[in-house]
Amino acid sequence: MTAATRDLAVYIHWPFCLSKCPYCDFNSHVAEAVDYNHWRGALLAELSHYAAQLPDRNIISIFFGGGTPSLMEPATSAALIDAVAGHWSLADDIEITLEANPTSVEAGRFRDFRLAGINRLSIGVQALDDKALGFFGRGHDQTQAIDAVTLAGSIFPRTSFDLIYARPHQTIDGWTKELSEALAMGPEHLSLYQLTIERGTPFYSAHRRGDFQIPAEGLSSALFEVTQELCTSRGLPAYEISNHARPGLECRHNLVYWTGGDYVGIGPGAHGRLTVGDTVFATEQIPGPTNWLDAVAASGHGTRKFEALDAATRIDEILVMGLRLRDGLTRDAFHMATAHAFEDVLEPRRLRRLIDAKFLEIDTRGLRATAQGLIRLNAVLAALLA
Ligand code: SF4
Repeated sequence: MTAATRDLAVYIHWPFCLSKCPYCDFNSHVAEAVDYNHWRGALLAELSHYAAQLPDRNIISIFFGGGTPSLMEPATSAALIDAVAGHWSLADDIEITLEANPTSVEAGRFRDFRLAGINRLSIGVQALDDKALGFFGRGHDQTQAIDAVTLAGSIFPRTSFDLIYARPHQTIDGWTKELSEALAMGPEHLSLYQLTIERGTPFYSAHRRGDFQIPAEGLSSALFEVTQELCTSRGLPAYEISNHARPGLECRHNLVYWTGGDYVGIGPGAHGRLTVGDTVFATEQIPGPTNWLDAVAASGHGTRKFEALDAATRIDEILVMGLRLRDGLTRDAFHMATAHAFEDVLEPRRLRRLIDAKFLEIDTRGLRATAQGLIRLNAVLAALLA
């Protein structure tokens, strides 16, 4: 692919939610009223702003994330998809994903989103357990979640749903039963995240107060291993630390992030990576919804950062993202992204220590984390890149 026809993914951020989940540190906000026309115009304006700087790209994915983009009017998503098609060429097999929550209000609009052009729905189920859903402050129960997943499967060509595990009081047996129920629903793609306590969230304060405890490292690792075994045995192996799919049905949008591809981020707080000439730029939009809206009204975009990445930073981020993948980084992919071989940039003694400890493997194909390395990837990366 030449620079003139480089593939590009488009991320569009809708920052509003019905309520704020206590574990969430995403750029999501509860607003009393949203001026949908105003928001549609602003997102379209920012899209045009970036399109003018990035001519002749081939769009392989559009991803509506949030926040809760299923609260966006379906007509807004249709207008944005049409605008993307007007600015660029679309790949024949373009993936167009919308994140949704399984409340009845949102499920009632699934058909309209399909008509708008969405062809993949990613549903935030989070737990198949009403007590856990209550703990997570979710606005749906288990029955609504199952109904929403079933309905989505009858409407969208592709679907996925998310679950959060390694929760307080969770046992291996309890998670095995819950994950088995999820797999029995026949998903083609599952995102399975371990609960993390993020600074600044209500869970962070509650956890510090001792209101609840999350599983110790040994139990977390055991839960991760059970997850891998169960999903693999049902035909959904992990292709990334937290993502499982039937072969060929991986999320193409997220693969762009993990393989160092180009993506443009539209909307409050959205990030992007854009190759212009031989330089990769990191972009970031103003995070606050009102400030972003004001900036777009004033200058057509809410960009607060458009910064060339130096070679060392780019190498580190390619390694950090690529080693999340089960297959790791191929030598060709790493060379294409960084113009270097692994041996040129990795400190030999650190690499050797991690290989000897059986956390990393390197061969003629490339560099990858072993199963044990994936369980403790943050520590492995810290030791590799220190
Ligand atoms: S619905 Fe999603 S984005 Fe919104 S607060 Fe909950 S976890 Fe965060």
